[in-house]
Amino acid sequence: MSKLTVIIPSFNEEDNIKNTASVIGSTLSEAGIDYNLLFVSDGSTDNTFSIVEELNSSDKRVEGIQFSRNFGKEAAIFAGLEYATGDCVAVIDCDLQHPPKTLVEMYSLWEQGYEVIEGIKSKRGKESIIHKMFVGIFYGIMSSLMKIDMNSTSDFKLMDRKVVNALLELPERNTFFRALSFWAGFKSTSVTFDVEERKAGKSKWSFAGLVRYAISNTTSFTTAPLKFVLGMGFILMLFSLILGVETLVNYFLGIAADGFTTVILLILIVGGCIMISLGIIGHYIARIYEEVKGRPRYIVSKVTENK
Ligand code: UDP
Ligand code: MG
Repeated sequence: MSKLTVIIPSFNEEDNIKNTASVIGSTLSEAGIDYNLLFVSDGSTDNTFSIVEELNSSDKRVEGIQFSRNFGKEAAIFAGLEYATGDCVAVIDCDLQHPPKTLVEMYSLWEQGYEVIEGIKSKRGKESIIHKMFVGIFYGIMSSLMKIDMNSTSDFKLMDRKVVNALLELPERNTFFRALSFWAGFKSTSVTFDVEERKAGKSKWSFAGLVRYAISNTTSFTTAPLKFVLGMGFILMLFSLILGVETLVNYFLGIAADGFTTVILLILIVGGCIMISLGIIGHYIARIYEEVKGRPRYIVSKVTENK
């Protein structure tokens, strides 16, 4: 019989683990799905991992990995993919914002032969207006750069073993799971789900965190910002060409070119563009540096005992 491994990235989720494990477990058991739950504690400093160990001692279907420090959700997902033993693998949030009953739907699509089943958000859960606005702006920019609708896609998906192995073969350290499953191809479909409210605890996203997330994922997935630099260069060149022609015409018409203000303005514009461009290029160089160092994505400090 085939088995489903459910990866649950968890960072300081002590109030959620027990409930999440029992809700997902009972939903899958009722549907007659053989499963195991793999909690990846992303360097939690609370009791997250000890609760997982406690659950593991009475039910071996609950397993866990503890990172040596917080490496981020992306690293937690990839550690999960590496440790997963199932014939198909799903990723779900620990706070039950992704409804477990959707897993059953995803599983039956997998049985029908689909290899990637994407969870698509039909509506976002309750969030403050400011949060919605920021998320909207970031996802808008990221979506247009990556050509993937970021607002409705999520990390909630189910994949066949083949897809998991393909993703694990990627050599890069900086990954973007949400977009990589699209990139990988395979026979895909999607299911929509309503984002529930967080069951317990707080969301770990801060504004600065969102900015970092947007920049790092955009640059790890696409080189579109570099094209933007090139485009800006062209526009400036065109601009200076027009200005040059205008100055020449004025010169021959006998109108003295007066333009101290224009000079200052131009220096400011050009200087600004050069700095932005250097910043973007520098960021990519930094990414190359990180990749070349080849450090591991995460460090595991503890693993629960298995049968
Ligand atoms: N998470 C993680 N590492 C982190 C931050 C978050 O593993 O550094 C996990 C977290 O425990 C949760 C999931 O990622 O299971 C989604 O996080 P959260 O609910 O804070 O984000 P939101 O739902 O607000 O986007
Ligand atoms: Mg959440």
